[in-house]
Amino acid sequence: MRTTVDAVIHEIRDALGDAGVLTGPALAERTTSDWSEADAALPGALVLPRTPAEVAAALRILHTHHCAVVVQGGLTGLAGGANPRPGEVALSLTRLDRIEALDAIGGTAVVQAGVTLERLQSAAEETGWFFPLDLGARGSCQLGGNAATNAGGNRVLRFGMMRNLVLGLEVALPDGTLLTMLDRVIKNNAGFDLKHLFIGTEGTLGVVTRLSLQLVPRPLHQPTALCAVPDFASALALLRDSKSRLPGLTAFELMWSDFFEASCRAQRKASPFGQAHPLYVLIEGFAASEEVGNASIEHLLEHAFDRGLVTDAVVAQSGSQAGQLWAYREGVSELLSVCKPLAAFDVSVATTRMDELVTQLRACLTQAFPSQQHLFFGHLGDGNLHLISGNFAGHDDVVRAEEMVYAIVGEFQGSISAEHGIGTVKRPFLHHSRTPEELRLMQQLKGWLDPRNILNPGRVLPELDRA
Ligand SMILES: Cc1cc2nc3c(=O)[nH]c(=O)nc-3n(C[C@H](O)[C@H](O)[C@H](O)COP(=O)(O)OP(=O)(O)OC[C@H]3O[C@@H](n4cnc5c(N)ncnc54)[C@H](O)[C@@H]3O)c2cc1C
Repeated sequence: MRTTVDAVIHEIRDALGDAGVLTGPALAERTTSDWSEADAALPGALVLPRTPAEVAAALRILHTHHCAVVVQGGLTGLAGGANPRPGEVALSLTRLDRIEALDAIGGTAVVQAGVTLERLQSAAEETGWFFPLDLGARGSCQLGGNAATNAGGNRVLRFGMMRNLVLGLEVALPDGTLLTMLDRVIKNNAGFDLKHLFIGTEGTLGVVTRLSLQLVPRPLHQPTALCAVPDFASALALLRDSKSRLPGLTAFELMWSDFFEASCRAQRKASPFGQAHPLYVLIEGFAASEEVGNASIEHLLEHAFDRGLVTDAVVAQSGSQAGQLWAYREGVSELLSVCKPLAAFDVSVATTRMDELVTQLRACLTQAFPSQQHLFFGHLGDGNLHLISGNFAGHDDVVRAEEMVYAIVGEFQGSISAEHGIGTVKRPFLHHSRTPEELRLMQQLKGWLDPRNILNPGRVLPELDRA
């Protein structure tokens, strides 16, 4: 049973009011695709609910009419999952933008799904707390999108991924049932912990409408250093030393020289070092005071210089200098813009095998695409390697590069998606990281929760029939 999108739009407009549905020229003015460059159609309509109840009401109508819907957060995704396909309606969480509660005693927050990551970070800091998830897209990505993709970012080493910071969720199921599970405690073993079904499943099982989140005390000082490192073995030894000598270690970001130099060029920023080095490591910690933080990072670096693990280093003397050091790593945004058409990879592998993987990937890619840039960087502490390859001549070359990279990652028993998700871009390659049995169970879960296959169809899992 199918009805036209027009009939569905009419019904949703009745339920949400005129401002709740955009069509025609008003819709054409809006951005409705993510950062991935994956195919995106103009949606039949953009549904803009203001409350969780309106999200549920819209889904109920879409479910009744068997109408496919794509969920949209801040549209900073890199996997194409939020891009509309022909005939779909888009549902955006942008107007669910209230921070409902910020408990300055207990250190928790309850937010609506459309609140941006940066807004929560700032609000938490104003009350002496800190929301530790952090990524380059912080100004636009939404907390609902962060939960849907189980975002990682710069401080996973210390605080884990988004999953570790979510205490509770509210989710609208594809049939419009609203599941409110807004726990504010870490411990709750009362039956199944259902929130995990929706974290990291990229909007295929339900729409996140509200989140209850864990905050941590605001750090009093964040010692930060950028180090020049002679080789990968030294980087691994420095990581081990940093974990023991800098107990508040929050980030250990590795940049290969090609990435570092491209980031400097893209931002017209000079390197702080007099000469080029094979690798660069950005280290950040949390400390109880400036004195304690500076003493522990200087102690760490002294030891590292003595052992030859570091050949040069710059220690930030202020918050703004720390920001300048982070800018080398955050040149990713500029590189994503200048390397188009590109393939952006986000894989993970056992930390000890990362260099071997980089060597093999670099050799294969350089042979196949000698005039493109292949820029490697990553969160070494988490075994998470990022790679930006571009500018490709066209889409066919992008796909050829993806096939090459994911097959090699599969041989290394790594994951084809450490943090960005599968979406549509990596869907054909999921078998490199998941067994047939795992894929079958994922499909069964999807079938149980979304029997009409209306919610984010064709994302993550192989295409299913729509009932
Ligand atoms: C410059 C840059 C740097 C980045 N750095 C990182 C990084 O370090 N680590 C990292 O993990 N990611 C990173 N990303 C990727 C991206 O920012 C994250 O995946 C982010 O969590 C996506 O959030 P969003 O709100 O933009 O989601 P969108 O792009 O809108 O959507 C992403 C997916 O989640 C679904 N979705 C969105 N909102 C909801 C919801 N409320 N309920 C259910 N499903 C929903 C969508 O359908 C889609 O499948 C980066 C992106 C950019 C552009």
